[in-house]
Amino acid sequence: MTDEITIPADLLPADGRFGSGPSKVPAEAMSALAGIGKSVMGTSHRKSAVKDQVGRLRRGLADLFALPEGYEVVLGVGGTTAFWEVAVFGLVEDRVQAASFGEFGSKFAKAVQIAPHLGEPTVVTAEPGSAAYLSAEEGVDVYATPHNETSTGVAVEVERVAADGLMLHDATSAVAGQPVDMAETDCYYFAPQKGLASDGGLWIALMSPAAIERAERIAASGRYIPAFLDLKTAIDNSRKDQTYNTPAVATVVLAAEQVDALNAAGGLEAAVKRCSESTGTLYSWADSREFASPFVTDTKIRSNVVATIDFEGVDAAEIAKILRANGILDTEPYRKLGRNQLRIACYPAVDPADAAKLTDAIDYVVERLS
Ligand SMILES: *Cc1c(COP(=O)(O)O)cnc(C)c1O
Repeated sequence: MTDEITIPADLLPADGRFGSGPSKVPAEAMSALAGIGKSVMGTSHRKSAVKDQVGRLRRGLADLFALPEGYEVVLGVGGTTAFWEVAVFGLVEDRVQAASFGEFGSKFAKAVQIAPHLGEPTVVTAEPGSAAYLSAEEGVDVYATPHNETSTGVAVEVERVAADGLMLHDATSAVAGQPVDMAETDCYYFAPQKGLASDGGLWIALMSPAAIERAERIAASGRYIPAFLDLKTAIDNSRKDQTYNTPAVATVVLAAEQVDALNAAGGLEAAVKRCSESTGTLYSWADSREFASPFVTDTKIRSNVVATIDFEGVDAAEIAKILRANGILDTEPYRKLGRNQLRIACYPAVDPADAAKLTDAIDYVVERLS
């Protein structure tokens, strides 16, 4: 029955990828990768062809985020999950205060909690759909929060909460789609397969002088640090446009393509605006329908990039299944949230016109299901 619902072509987005991560990789970036492929892919990452791509990505990010004096772009292998352990070994002195209001914030808090060389963290929690907030605390040397909690579609402001202590922001989905003032963070880190429209396998950290100094001090302290997770080694390699071990080269190239494209199209401000347009369309559409409503009720913390929409009286899983059969992919909610929901990511690579088409397509499906 459901596979009989064919959405008319004029209601379909030109590109049906709305996944929260991995997310839409633009066709232009794929062509660019194919174009330079033979001189880069399958060649030594210690030679200039690959190093030039790493350098292009590092410079592009410094531009996009208008990095203040002394901030550096550091990268390594292993994605955001690897970076959590990098931070546990190389950035945290003793005590963390961590905000946990969804899957990803809770994972970093857990990594800190079980680290035998660190003190017991303070974990501030909030129910999914709301935010937990950091605040100044005696004895804390790292404050950590997701910028955008990808599992729930909740985003917080990037702001310092204490005169000392490093601010760490997980920006895996927020990067390039949420506004940020880099002076308010010491380590803005992400993997490039969500907001940056690339593929997985790398972590990238925009680090302040204070964070670099901290990493160097801990590295010199004699603490046991596994070589793969050694932040000082990553900093030293990054300065030479290299990684400690073999990088995901296609991931570097695709990320560099996207960053260059965003810089050419008006930089961070324009990218954020494009995302607001897309998610704004989705939220106001949900507000206007009997059967839908935005999951995040506090508009101040509603994500600019990941729209979570609750459904009533119609099975969202069924909608997602029909959308998938019609080429609209990955609108399912975060699996552990267990809500009757669609989660729709509109990172900078997504065309706001496609977000609007998506609402037409969902209307068409709901009409036929109810
Ligand atoms: C997806 C995601 C991660 C995990 O990224 P990996 O590269 O798969 O390790 C971490 N944090 C946030 C906010 C995410 O959205």
